Amino acid sequence: MYIETWGCQMNLRQSEGMAGILAAAGYQIADSMEQADVVIFNGCMVRQMAEEKVFGRIGAVAEEKRKRTVLLGVGGCMGQIHGHALIKRVASIDFVFGSSGHHALPALIEQAQSQRIAELAEPVFDSSLAVRRNSAVTGMVTITEGCSNFCTYCIVPYARGPMRSRPRDLILKEVDALLEAGYKEVLLLGQNVNSYGTDQPSYGSFAELLTQVARTGIRRARFTTSHPKDISEAIFRAMERESNVCHHLHLASQSGSDDVLRAMNRKYDSGHYVSMIDMGRDIMPDLNISTDIIVGFPGETGADFEATMELIERMRFGTVFVAKYSPRPMTRGADLVDDVPALVKEERLERVLSRQRVIAMEENSRFIGQDLEVLVEGVSRMGVLYGRADDHRTVMCQGDTELGEFVTVHVDGISVSSLSGGILSREKFGGKP
Ligand code: SAM
Ligand code: SF4
Repeated sequence: MYIETWGCQMNLRQSEGMAGILAAAGYQIADSMEQADVVIFNGCMVRQMAEEKVFGRIGAVAEEKRKRTVLLGVGGCMGQIHGHALIKRVASIDFVFGSSGHHALPALIEQAQSQRIAELAEPVFDSSLAVRRNSAVTGMVTITEGCSNFCTYCIVPYARGPMRSRPRDLILKEVDALLEAGYKEVLLLGQNVNSYGTDQPSYGSFAELLTQVARTGIRRARFTTSHPKDISEAIFRAMERESNVCHHLHLASQSGSDDVLRAMNRKYDSGHYVSMIDMGRDIMPDLNISTDIIVGFPGETGADFEATMELIERMRFGTVFVAKYSPRPMTRGADLVDDVPALVKEERLERVLSRQRVIAMEENSRFIGQDLEVLVEGVSRMGVLYGRADDHRTVMCQGDTELGEFVTVHVDGISVSSLSGGILSREKFGGKP
């Protein structure tokens, strides 16, 4: 059995759940589609391009099916949105499941042996579900599912349903299990983690949950993604107070123009966004902010785009994920005229990228000569071990170390996306200064 994951970290975590359930049911996990007799695509619908890529991969499995028997399943947001239509229209797909239907996978695969089938189950949050994690260093823990914000452009509320906070005791149980298993870091996940508990006030707030997670004794705690409307002083205070909570915040701005933000139904203006980041940086001067930006939203004028460029200038983000607007089915945006020409979208995207490259180099250059604590978490394609500093910057580590180890790195090199340097010492040098 082979699982291929597209899209966000939520999907990655769900694929770990699928792998766990199927491994418990006796399936062997294969490293490639060619070695598997059951292939599952956990598909993404956020942008059209992501969807097209998954359809490309479905085509590759269809080719494989000419040579031998393979069962193909499609799930995640893609399964949820297209549902039965995938069975009707794509002959190579044998089974379809929804964005949280993976608990039923063994039975579904069984049924799909004799009959092509789509099953879109009700969402569940079940801590007892098995999990087969991809990393032995960072454990992903989902704390909210779904989203109720209905940003004009976004398909997520349709693909994943309304926001549901997971009971706090189940989250803490999962963190404890990770700790027990030797994990060094937890990554709390949700479409908008900082809105945790707003649907279930008895669960408490995100700031309270973050504090409790930090106090389990896990060496590092991170979280993503946050929504600007629900970011608060209490969250910044918890990040600052708990020495093992990392000083990184992913806060999607989407645009610097208030008119565009209103049309996007983002529920904040640029003034609020800037003032919250200023507050965060007052409380934590080393806070690293990353963001998402959409260029070419319907009606975005040249002046609107310049406001986005000004925001980038003012905020000096560590990382900017920029995307061209792509109309999505079911969303309110799908009814708007996609009136920014493709060439203009491309130019705007390039301007954001090229300015951000300069800002990232300038920001990264501040770290030359510094000693940073890095948690080693992977091996690059060039065979170099890399990890993350406390503020989420990637650090390439030269010297003797291994995955899951804390090392102190003396930074002597930078690129747009990473720092690099030699290892001074292995293991922790004692919390944040
Ligand atoms: N919940 C997060 C928030 O609101 O900050 C974002 C989650 S969303 C799945 C990830 C990113 O995909 C968004 O921040 C947005 O920039 C991008 N995105 C979503 N829909 C898009 C669309 N139709 N076209 C282009 N980018 C899109
Ligand atoms: Fe999509 Fe907006 Fe929800 Fe983020 S907050 S997942 S962009 S609808």
